[in-house]
Amino acid sequence: MTTLAPPVATWDDVLGQDAAVRSLRSALAGDQVAHAWLVVGPSGVGQRELARALAAALNCPVSDDPATGCGTCSTCERIARGTHPAVLDFEPEGQFHVVDAVRGDWIPAATRTMTEGRRKVLRIVAADRMNEGAQNAFLKVLEEPPASVVWLLDVEEDGLLLDTIVSRCRRIDLVPWTPDAMATLAAQLGIPHEDRAARVRAAMGSPDRLRDLADPELAEARWRHLAIVAELAERGPGAVVPMAKELVAWSRGRSAALKEAHLGEMERLEEAYGVERDKGWPPGVKQRLTKRFERLERQEQRRALEMLLDDLASYLRDLLAVHAGADAATLVNIDHEAALARDAERLDVVDVVAGLGAVERCREAFERNGAPELQLERLLLAISLPLYRP
Ligand SMILES: [Zn+2]
Repeated sequence: MTTLAPPVATWDDVLGQDAAVRSLRSALAGDQVAHAWLVVGPSGVGQRELARALAAALNCPVSDDPATGCGTCSTCERIARGTHPAVLDFEPEGQFHVVDAVRGDWIPAATRTMTEGRRKVLRIVAADRMNEGAQNAFLKVLEEPPASVVWLLDVEEDGLLLDTIVSRCRRIDLVPWTPDAMATLAAQLGIPHEDRAARVRAAMGSPDRLRDLADPELAEARWRHLAIVAELAERGPGAVVPMAKELVAWSRGRSAALKEAHLGEMERLEEAYGVERDKGWPPGVKQRLTKRFERLERQEQRRALEMLLDDLASYLRDLLAVHAGADAATLVNIDHEAALARDAERLDVVDVVAGLGAVERCREAFERNGAPELQLERLLLAISLPLYRP
């Protein structure tokens, strides 16, 4: 069962980023929140939580501390769930953010009058993936910023953005998580003690990935993905087509489950807005939410496929380490040591390197929106051919 991202809307939820939290809180306390911030750091280390906490602080009608929201009122709660109009995330739909997204989604969102709340936090996920046209269109927005908008531009590095954009933003840096912080999160997520070390290792410093691995369905999916080489070896060449179908069906199932969760969320909001009792939805809200949810559902399938590729690539990378005679302590998948030793007998170094190349080609094909079954078949075939060599 897929659930929506866990509600987070206070600074306490932004773990492991003390310096960034301090500078945002002091900007809030001094009423000096810049209209645009460049949030520089590896993806998935707290960007979403930071945006939510900032939006709550700017919009909470209850808290008497300007630097933080109360975390419990209806405004904070909806901000935490990402269903309040004061917080919006813009993710790239394909490989890049394009000018149509800037003109069709971002600018309308920035200029729309707020029906509730005081200031909107508009977060551009992977802002360094704006293509040139998008950057030029966005620059015009930054030159005449609407007073009610705070932009957060998430980037892994600032070098890919126009200097004219960077110079109009205040910068905050997010840092990768330490193993200690990851271990603390693993405990908070309720990952069983005996699995913690292995999952922290498999998450490779990404708390988002660790959260995924705390989801039993995704943890199980990881085992399946890491067993692909063995499954191909044992089931024989005839397995390629059905396996590709099953794996894609799983990714579609993730998206369908999220759709279920979104329907529940819409019902909950209908109740909160009193749609049944009186006037109906506030203008435009239902359309915007529906559009946002549909986008998230499309992204969920993509994310599931990317997870598959990440798992497979990490397994192949471990196989290379085994071939190189590396210490078990250097493996990403320390809970698969025996399987790795066995599969290293099945695939030699050249095969593994070719397999890694095939994973990357598949990733690029997904980014171009290539038909996933076909692309996965190609990938599985490339990995399986050396397994059936006489
Ligand atoms: Zn509040």
